[in-house]
Parts: sequence; structure tokens; C-alpha cells
Amino acid sequence: MNLTAFNKDFFDFLQQCPTPFHTTKYMSSQFLQAGFTALHENDEWKIKDGQGYYCIRDDGSIIAFKIAASGKENTPWRMTGAHTDSPSLQLKPTPVRKSHSLNQLCVEVYGGPLLTTWFDRDLGIAGRVSLLANNALLNRTIDFKKAMAIIPSLAIHLDRTANKEHTVEKQKQLYALLFQSTEKDPPFMDLLLQQISHEYPELTFDALLGYDLFCYDTQGPALLGLNDDFIVSGRLDNLLSCFVSMQGLLQKNTTGNCLLLCSNHEEIGSSSLAGAHGTFLPSVLKRLLPDPARFNRLMNSSHFISLDNAHATHPNFSEKHDPQHLPLLNNGPVIKYNSNQRYATTGRSAAMYKTLCHEVNVPIQTFVMNNDLTCGSTIGPIAATSLGIQTVDIGAPSLAMHSIRETTGAKDPYMLYQTIAHFFTRPILPMTEA
Ligand SMILES: [Zn+2]
Repeated sequence: MNLTAFNKDFFDFLQQCPTPFHTTKYMSSQFLQAGFTALHENDEWKIKDGQGYYCIRDDGSIIAFKIAASGKENTPWRMTGAHTDSPSLQLKPTPVRKSHSLNQLCVEVYGGPLLTTWFDRDLGIAGRVSLLANNALLNRTIDFKKAMAIIPSLAIHLDRTANKEHTVEKQKQLYALLFQSTEKDPPFMDLLLQQISHEYPELTFDALLGYDLFCYDTQGPALLGLNDDFIVSGRLDNLLSCFVSMQGLLQKNTTGNCLLLCSNHEEIGSSSLAGAHGTFLPSVLKRLLPDPARFNRLMNSSHFISLDNAHATHPNFSEKHDPQHLPLLNNGPVIKYNSNQRYATTGRSAAMYKTLCHEVNVPIQTFVMNNDLTCGSTIGPIAATSLGIQTVDIGAPSLAMHSIRETTGAKDPYMLYQTIAHFFTRPILPMTEA
């Protein structure tokens, strides 16, 4: 796959995945097409050597894996981890209020978005609905695929300090315009029911009982810059890494035992049913490798690459970076270091990833946080802690992380992909001493 074809598919992925539920759905359809088999956690599993499988938890997290021809217990595992969620605005249980002839959407802040970027954007609504049908509970994704809400800024004439102060009062200022009020406003649940019948005309059900819905920017991904040097889109953190991992695992010539985890709820700390702090990954691996001694031996010789975007140097704020570590757009994947293990990288785990990059001629950059600022984290340290596995934290350089529209280099996702593709296909990974 070349750079242009890769970016075209990446844009399609970004467009079709406004929420984690859509992301796992999209990924599972790709794995099915490639001959992987769906597994459910409440079934018994019969796993065959040389075959691919995937499993979804709570609709928002997915694990996919391909078993080595020589068997799941005989060769080390190569694993990647990323997250499916992005900072957003989530609809409240009572989602609409009336104010001054307008129906407004009531939202709660999910994770840590750069809130000022959510103003004056054409917002769509998408997510999961939970339905009762014949005494069973069904969950379905929905996406209105329409600009249907906006959070208008206050005019500068009414706030002369607007360009000096950026504070957003979350409870007061985030109500979004949804529709003009009339004498007979339809309840919001009716709008949802209409959308469900639109997307699932064959589906009969008795009641709509729940939803997990989010706002998203309807403006799609784009190449930008005089020479198309940049990619701009919502949710690059961390759909970029989910896409890269998926394309890596979808290659026909993977070697050994290969696994991908794309996990929900990273942006809110990973502690949840589906989050990386939960039982999903350890329990799947323990089902595959039930003997504890064998499990420990294999994890000790396995590798985990945690993928999450890295902060590229912002040309207007270069003083925010450590002056010896200034990653640039379009200059290759970034290895992220933190002495307090907010990133799981060690000199030793980085050595394995550097080997891969050198072999496919992809340049490497490094990131370490400015000592005066607090470092973010990823699911890398969680995987290292819960599995006892060598882990390296890497990612594509990006600007405006957690903005509604983030920027990365047009070559960066593809370069990252080349290294992950090599990770999953290299005949034998470099072993480290015990
Ligand atoms: Zn992230």
C-alpha cells in the first residue's frame, strides 16, 4: 500500500468513526473481511493455530489477534495498544432545555477537550442506543451525519475581554443550539427513534431505553497546506494509532502471535468495564494462555508497543518544549520517554523499536516533557504493569492535541504504519536477555 492509498483509507476511517462504538464496528468489519472470526466473551472459545479472531467489549473496545502457525503457547506475542475515544461533549440524560425560543442541547464534558475550539463548529450527534426488543436488550450505533447543533460564541461587542481571557464556564456556556422552538416541539427521544428507523428500517423493538451519544465536528478530514503537507481532522488522537495498528495486523504475512488492543475510556483514566485498567486484555490473554507459568514466561519474552500521538514542536510556542527534544511534523514516529514512567519506554524497550525503524528506513524522533510541565500518559504503563511485558510508548507527532481539529504531517501516519507492519511481520523479533 502506498502513501496516497493509505491516506485515502485513513480519511474514510476518520469520517466513519465519530465515536468509539463506530470505531470498533468499522474495525470488526475489516477483520471479518480479512477472514478473522468474531468471538464473544460469554461463549466458549475454540482457537486454531494460524487463524485470526477478534472480540469486542461493551461496544467500545476491541482486541484482535492472529495465532502463530506454531501455536499460541510456543512463541512470544507482539502486541500494540491504542485508544478509541477522544475528548468530546456527551449528551446528558435529560438532553434538551428550552431557552429564549430555542431548544438547546445539554452536554457534559468528556475527557479534556480544548473547549474554546468547540465553539462555532457544525456539530453532529452520534453514538450508541440501547433498545428493548422481544425481552432482549439490543445495542446499535447511530450517526445523524448532519450538522445539527452549534455552540455560538458571545459577540466581541458584548465581551471586550474575549481575546485576552479564554476561560470557559462549562455549566453555563456549553449549551448548543439544536432547533427553533415551536408550539409543538418533538421530544428528543422522538428524534432518536426517527433516526433509528432511518438507519435500521428492518429493526422492530419495543422501547428505547438508553443512549451514549456524543457531539462531533461534521467537517471531515482534509489534506492542508500549499503542498498538502498536513492532515487536519477531529479525533486524530487516537484514531490515527487505531488505524495504523489495524492496517498492520491486517497484513497477510504476519509472523508469530500478533495482537492489537484498541481501548475505550483512555481519555477519562481507563478505569471502566472497557478501559485498559479493566480486565479485558488480561482476561483474553489468560483464556488463550491458561497455564500461569507459561503465561508469565511468554509475557516476559513478548513486546508491547503503545501508540498514542506525540506533541510536535509548536512553532509559536517552542519554549514549551524541552530544547533538546523537538519533534517535527513529517519527520518520523516519536519515542516518548518519561523518567516517572508516565510513558512505559525504557532505554531497553526503545532499543527494540529503534531496530524496527532502522530496518525499514524510517527516521525516529524523541520526546521528553519540559521539566516544568506535567506529563500526560497512555495505556502503555497500564499494559506493562498488568502483564509484565516490555513496553515502548511511541506516536505520530501532532499539533493542537485535544482540539476539535488536530494537525499531523501528511507522511506521519504512513511512516508509523511502516514500522508497525514490520513489527508484525519480522521473522523473529530481537530477544532481550531475561
Ligand atoms: Zn491519546
